[in-house]
Amino acid sequence: MADLNQLISLLGGISDSDKALVEKAYKFAEKAHEGQKRFSGEPYFNHCFETAKILAEQGMGPVSVAAGLLHDTLEDANIKPEELEKEFGKEILFLVDSVTKLGQLHYHGVERHIESLRKLFVAMSQDLRVLIIKLADRLHNMRTLQYVQPEKQGRIAAETLQIYAPLAYRLSMRKINRELENLAFPYVFPEEYETIKSLLKQREKESAAQLEKFSRAMIKTLAKSGLTKIHTDTRVKSLFSLWRKLQRKNMEIENVYDVLALRIIVSSLEDCYKALGTIHGHWRPLPGRIKDYIAFPKPNDYKGIHTTVFTGDGGIVEVQIRTEEMHRQAEYGVASHLAFKESKKAGEKTLGLLWLAQFIPFIGKNKNGTAEENKEVPNWIKQIADSQTELLKSGTDEYFDNMQADFFQHRVFVFTPKGDVVDLPIDASPIDFAFAIHSDIGNHAGGAKINGKLVSLDTKLKNGDIVEILVKESARPNTKWLNFVKTNFAKKKIREAVNAIGKR
Ligand code: MN
Repeated sequence: MADLNQLISLLGGISDSDKALVEKAYKFAEKAHEGQKRFSGEPYFNHCFETAKILAEQGMGPVSVAAGLLHDTLEDANIKPEELEKEFGKEILFLVDSVTKLGQLHYHGVERHIESLRKLFVAMSQDLRVLIIKLADRLHNMRTLQYVQPEKQGRIAAETLQIYAPLAYRLSMRKINRELENLAFPYVFPEEYETIKSLLKQREKESAAQLEKFSRAMIKTLAKSGLTKIHTDTRVKSLFSLWRKLQRKNMEIENVYDVLALRIIVSSLEDCYKALGTIHGHWRPLPGRIKDYIAFPKPNDYKGIHTTVFTGDGGIVEVQIRTEEMHRQAEYGVASHLAFKESKKAGEKTLGLLWLAQFIPFIGKNKNGTAEENKEVPNWIKQIADSQTELLKSGTDEYFDNMQADFFQHRVFVFTPKGDVVDLPIDASPIDFAFAIHSDIGNHAGGAKINGKLVSLDTKLKNGDIVEILVKESARPNTKWLNFVKTNFAKKKIREAVNAIGKR
C-alpha cells in the first residue's frame, strides 16, 4: 500500500523543503489519478508510488522521486504541462515530460526498434535521470505484467529484454537489470524458462549443503590470517543469465562453475587481494579462472575479483571478492552517484548538465585544476570527459553548452548482435567497433555486417546500428585502416599489429 512516510524514510535524512516537495508530489499525483484503476484492479496511484519507491531504493534523490510520483500525470491524468510547471517548476516538468515522450515509443520489430533506441538516447542525452525514472516505471510494469492482456505481454516483455534491460546493465544498475531480465524471461522464452528453472532447482538442492560447509571453512581460514571484518553470502545465478551462459556451454550445467557462488565482502581494497592470497593458499584454484576486475574493470565498470577453487570434497565453487563500495556500485551503478547531487537548491541549473559534473574530473573541485580525479567516475564517462579538458578552460557556461553538444551528439551508440551498447566517436567504422569489443576481433576482422547487410570496413556507423564483425583467422590489420578509424585505441592496435607483421 502506498505510504508517504515509508517513501520519505527511504530517502534518508533529507531537508524539510525536500520532504515538502515529495509530500506535495504525492498528494498531487494521488488526486490526479483519483478513480483510475490499473489492470490489476488496484488504484492507479499505486503504480506511481511503486515507481517512486524503486527510485528511492536505488538511491535517487527527492527531485527524481517526486518526478517518479508524477510521471504519468501528463499522459494519463490530463494534467496540463503549465499546471505542473506552476506547481513544481521547470526541472520536474522537464523530467515528467521527457519520461512521457519516452513512453510513447513502442517496439514493433527491428525498424521501430532502432528508431526507439535513437530517441531513447536523445532523451538520455538531456538528463540521465529521465532514463532511470523510465527504468523504474518499466520495472513496476513488469512486476505487474500478469494483469495485462495476454496479447500485449509478449511485446512488452520483448521490449524489456531488448531495450530496457541492456540499458540498465549499461548504467551498471545490475539489480534492476537482473530483475527486468528475469521478469521478461518466461514471457519471451516460456519453454526455455521452465527448463532452466528445473535445472537450477536441482543444482541448488545438490549444492546448498556443500556450499554452506565451504562457507564456514572459508570464514575460519580468513579469520586465521587476520581477515575478521568480513561477511559472506551465497549468490545464486539469475535464471536469465544462467540461460545465456548455458547456451555457450552446450546446455550442460556441469560446465557452468558459477551457478552458485560464494561472495566475500571485505573492508578494503587491500583486503581483496589478501583474501585472494589466503584462499589460494588453502584451496587449489582452477587454472584460467582467476579474474581481476579490480585492475581491469568490466566495460560497465564492474569491479571485484573472481576465482574458482576446488573445495576438497569433490566440489568446485566460484568465489567473488569485493569491498562494500564495489558491491554497492555493482548493484546500483550510476544511480548511486546521482543521489548526492540532487537537491531542490540546484534549481534551474540542473536542467542543463550539472548532474554530469560529478562524473567529470576537475569540475566542482578546487579552481587551480589540481584536484584529483573522482575515482567513482564510470569509465565510459571518464573516456569522454578526458577529451573535454580543453573545453573546460573556456569557462563554465560555455563549457556546459559545449558539453551538452559534445557529450552525446558527437558520439554514436551502436549495438552488438546481442544488444550490448558500444559508444564510439561520430563517423567511427566497424573496425573501431571491432577493437572496442576485443583486440582479437579487431586483429582478425575480415568483414562486417550492419543491420544484417554486408558492408565495407570503412562504413560510417549510425546511431542504433547493429554491428556484427566477421572474424577470419587469416585476416590481419593493414595500414589503410588508419585512414578511416576514429578511436586512438584502434589506431594504436593497428600500428602494433602492422609492426609485428613487419618484423616477422
Ligand atoms: Mn507509468
